[in-house]
This record gives sequence, C-alpha cells and structure tokens, in this order.
Amino acid sequence: QNLQEVCERLKPELCQLTSVNAQMQYMVERFQLGENEKKSRSLVIQLLQEVFVEFFPDSQIIPFGSSVNTFGIHSCDLDLFLDLENTKVFQAHAKANMEQAGEGVSDDGRSEDSILSDIDLSTASPAELLDLVAVILKRCVPSVDKVNVVSTARLPVVKFQHKELHLQGDITLNNRLAVRNTRFLQLCSGAEERLRPLVYTLRLWAKQKQLAGNPSGAGPLLNNYALTLLVLYYLQNCEPPVLPTVNQLKDMACEEEECVIENWDCTFPTQAIAVPPSKNTQELCSLLAGFFSFYAQFEFATNVISLRTGRSDPLTNVQKAAADDDMQQDCSAKPPQGGPRIGPMNILDPFELSHNVAGNLNERTARSFQKECQEAEKYCRSLQYQVKSNKGKSWGLVRLLTPQGEGPQARMDLLTVSILLRSEGLPEDLQNQQHVAKDAFSVLWFQRVCAVVEGIFQNVLKCHLVSAPEVLEEGQDVDLSSSLDDSGLSVESPVNPGPNVGGKRPLSSGSDDSVSPHGKKPRLTKRGRSVLSPWLWEQRHSVWAGRRKVRRELIKDSEAKAEGSCVELETQVTTHITEKEPQLKEALQFKLQPQLVVATESTSTLLKFQPIQDSEGVFQDFFHFLEVFLPKMVDTMLVKRADNS
Ligand code: ATP
Ligand code: MG
Repeated sequence: QNLQEVCERLKPELCQLTSVNAQMQYMVERFQLGENEKKSRSLVIQLLQEVFVEFFPDSQIIPFGSSVNTFGIHSCDLDLFLDLENTKVFQAHAKANMEQAGEGVSDDGRSEDSILSDIDLSTASPAELLDLVAVILKRCVPSVDKVNVVSTARLPVVKFQHKELHLQGDITLNNRLAVRNTRFLQLCSGAEERLRPLVYTLRLWAKQKQLAGNPSGAGPLLNNYALTLLVLYYLQNCEPPVLPTVNQLKDMACEEEECVIENWDCTFPTQAIAVPPSKNTQELCSLLAGFFSFYAQFEFATNVISLRTGRSDPLTNVQKAAADDDMQQDCSAKPPQGGPRIGPMNILDPFELSHNVAGNLNERTARSFQKECQEAEKYCRSLQYQVKSNKGKSWGLVRLLTPQGEGPQARMDLLTVSILLRSEGLPEDLQNQQHVAKDAFSVLWFQRVCAVVEGIFQNVLKCHLVSAPEVLEEGQDVDLSSSLDDSGLSVESPVNPGPNVGGKRPLSSGSDDSVSPHGKKPRLTKRGRSVLSPWLWEQRHSVWAGRRKVRRELIKDSEAKAEGSCVELETQVTTHITEKEPQLKEALQFKLQPQLVVATESTSTLLKFQPIQDSEGVFQDFFHFLEVFLPKMVDTMLVKRADNS
C-alpha cells in the first residue's frame, strides 16, 4: 500500500476519535511494526547471521535504525551492521597458529585452507569487503534479490531486497555509532512515553509536507534520524523539560555503562528506569503545538543545536565564513578542520560531535521547514485543531497531515526552471537567423528548446512519455487542471481568457524551422508569451540520486567516455542508475509545461513542473536536480543538435 492511500483511509478514522491526544496515540497503533513484521524481520536477520558466520567466523549481524529504534513503520527498511571485529581476531589467531605450526601458509602469510583465505580483514578495504558481502548475499542467501553496493552513501552500504517480504535491507560495516544512537533513541522512548506518539505524528507531517523522508543523507530533505533529534531537542527545552540532556543522561549512567566509540563519548544508562520521570505534565496535543511554535521562531541559520547540552550555540565567525564558502562553491565542500559541515540547519549528532546530521539540507528545505512550522503553529491555535467537529468536518491532526499541494497552498508545488536566451553559445544555424524579427527569432529558439527538452527527458533521463504537448490554439478547450499557468500571467492560455485572447497573431516572418512538438508552430501573443499544453512524464527510477558518483566512476572506467560528449555520458549515468538501483515503489508522474516569455530585456523559456503522482515524496529532489541540470544540458544539446544536422 502506498502512503497516500493509507493516509486517505486514515482521515475518517482520525476524525472519529475524540481528542488530538487520542489521534496521536492512534498514529502509533496504525503505523508501528506489528508483531508478525517484527518476527519476519528477525527471521531474516537470523538467516543472514547463519550464512555470514560460515564465511566470517564469529561475525555478528546487528540490527539498528527504525526496525528496532521504536519508531519503525510498516514499510521501513531493515538496517543491519555486520560486525567483523571478532572475525578479525579469529583470523589473526588462525594465522598465528598456522605460522607456528609451519604449515598451510602461503607466501603472503595467509592460510590456504581458511574459509577467509581470499581476504585479509586486517588490510582489506571497506570496498573489497562490501563486494564480498554482496557476492555472499547474491549466491548464498535464498529469496534475496537486487543486491547492489552503493558507495555514494555517507557510509557505503550493500542494498538488497527480500523478495517475499518486500523488504528493503541495508548492510553496513563499521557502523557502531549508529547502533549506539539507536540504543539512545530506544532509551528515550522507554523513559518518556509521550515521545513515540510525537515522533510518529511529526514523521508523517514532515513526509506529507515533503520536508523529510528520504533515506540517510540522499537529497536535500531531512532524514528521519535528524527529525527525531529535533523532537528530542525541543523536549529538552520544554518548561519543565520532558527529557534530560545527553550530558545529564551520562551522569545517570553507572561505571559499567561507560561507552566510547571512535573516541566519542556515548555513555548513557542501559535501562530507562535509571532516568527519573519528567515533571512536565503537558498533554500530547499541547506538546505537538509547542514543537511547531518552538521551531517557527528558531534561528536555524545562526545557531548550532546541541542535544548534549540541550542548548543552541551561535555559529562562530569561522563557521559562518566556511558556510558561505560552501554555498558559493560546491555543496560537498569539506568541513573546516574536521568540524561539522555548516549549512542552513545545524543539528550536532549527540555522540559524533563533528557531524551535522542536517548537513545535507539546502536553503530551500530549511526555509520550507520553518514556513510549515509557522503554518502549523497558526493552525494549532484554531478551534479546528482543538475541538472535534460534530458536523463531520476534518479536525485535529487531519488538517496537519494534508499533503503539500492539496491544502490552501496547492499551487506551491508548481516549480519553474527558466532557460535564458543568450546570444553567445547558440548553434550556428540559429545565430544566422538572428536578423529575423526578435519575436520570430524567439519562437524559433523556443521550438528548438522544447524539442531539446523533450530529448533530454526521453533519452538522457529515460522518462516515459505519457502524453505530449500541443500548441494551444485560440479558443481550444483545455481541461482546467491541465493548465499549469501560475497567476494568470499568460493571457493567451485558453483556460484563462484575458483581454488579449483575441490578440494572437501569426508569426510575421516565415521560417521553415518545424521542430516544435506536433509540428505546429507556437504563436506569440502581444504580451510576448506563448505556451504549449503540458507534457505528462513518468519516471520509475531515482535517476537524480547519486549521479555525481556514478559519473565519476564512469569517467574513471574509460578515458574515452570522459572525453565523449556530455550527453552520452549523462545518458550512461542514467542507464547505470536504472539498471543498478531499485525502482521506486510507485512511479513519479509529473507535468511539464513550456512557456516562452519575450520581454524587452530578456527572452526565456519557462519550464513549469507539477507533480501528478508522487507517493514517495521524491518530486522535490528531482526538481532540485533539474534546476541545475536542465539549463546546462539544454545549452549542450542545442549546439549538439545543430552539429548533427
Ligand atoms: P527510516 O529507515 O524509517 O527512514 P531510520 O531511522 O532507520 O528511519 P535510516 O536513514 O534508515 O533511518 O538510518 C538508519 C539509522 O542510521 C538511523 O536510525 C540512525 O541510527 C543512523 N543514522 C542515519 N542517518 C544518520 C546521520 N545523518 N547521522 C548519524 N546517524 C545516522
Ligand atoms: Mg532505516
């Protein structure tokens, strides 16, 4: 079941309940992993454990993340850590014993009959180990499918699917800190029973508002771990606090509970009973409203959130300068002197203090997060939030969980990439046409851009064309919902007849360029605009995710490809992703409407995008990628088309 369907069915169920508190409790019941799901997950873990121990004696498979951190939902992935520490010890002993006995040791010092003979754990690189893990998964674990090493993740990972259980799994090596922060979340849940209803509600709110939900660090959205830390930090700052700070937790631990991982202090009590109950007696509905007010006003850009101290510290000038540099240069710039990567939102990991868990966010997501908090804060003050409607209207959580794009700001999700007409960099044949009237020339260019854009989506990005655009004729009947025009600016759109609707005129200069989709020539109105009806496209793969890394690998693989045209390389990158990465559970569908705007100072083609089906909430990521990718690609393809013809 996809999330939107679940949410649709959730609405009437929520409306029937009698209070927001009950609605929040219901969120947990409705979404949490059931006993059977937990059981099947542990069977998968057991199966993997049995297989891996054959290859890696004494190794251990340890689950972490949402399957076990008490915040898991039905479809969540299964995060696993393959701990090879004991295997290393085993291998070292075996090696020493063999050497002592003077037998079976090959030249390079490795035992020939050990099951580990083809890899030395003390020197193997993480990439080699992950490849081996992938081979074992593929060959030796029944029901496992789509095994794939992803080295682009913050921590490299082997992804796999369990066919019958429709379960997506991730295996990482060297991820002790994540196992430990999972224990920390478990402890907080155990110590404070209001935490789970809050986190489940906020995870769904953030998902619906397209602020969160993408897997760790991919794309510019908050991941669930970062969002949960925001909830914990807010609870530390309630009056009186709902949760203690991480430093206070450390003081509650006894000596045996001391824990240091990679030099980071990760000490906290094992048992929730060691944490004294909070004096705060606020109800869930008031804590939820409080979360929104707290972050509606929070100065994200100038503060660093620390769960260790429960305080936020102003950014130092050095950090600010680094952040500015970061934005001007490449978004993957390194943090200064091993400090956290500073960005528009800064949440220090409570243990790995040099890590900003929201370091992947861009300005836009940080701004949307705050804006959505402000909207929600306003809503929470209304009676509609607080009081059950006796007329059967939606109330309480229901309004908060309305997806972005369906509420009053329905037009928010209409996003535009603009391609500017510049005289330099035009293909020669177009340049030779520059003597024709400006309007006519603009239309020529517009036709060319549209054809190129179609080529990019179809061939380079491998989108599936559901329906193609047509030139809109005067008076032509068009379904209202199919027009993507924003504020009625484009007067010639038949959907929005303005005073100039009769003002269309044929192109003054005859030209034989007929590249426009469907062969008709777009016309320009007196207001200097021209629109085509929208394309409807479908994409089944996250072709925007991890491109940089794949591109780098492809270039490394073959010098020739690196020098080859950019279009070919980008096409290969897409093919690589569509072949290697798992499909989206449900395809992304979006409309794309091109519009030409000719003004005195500049001429541009606006490409307006709108998600039509986006149950996985990936449209924003895709759009952010297109924002950068499209203008460059259009330039390249314009010239290339001309070269080929
Ligand atoms: P879900 O899979 O439902 O989105 P999750 O909590 O499992 O939620 P993942 O992105 O799968 O989130 O990450 C798994 C675990 O890895 C997290 O629970 C957390 O323990 C750790 N983790 C994820 N992202 C980070 C991060 N940026 N910094 C530190 N630890 C992280
Ligand atoms: Mg997970």
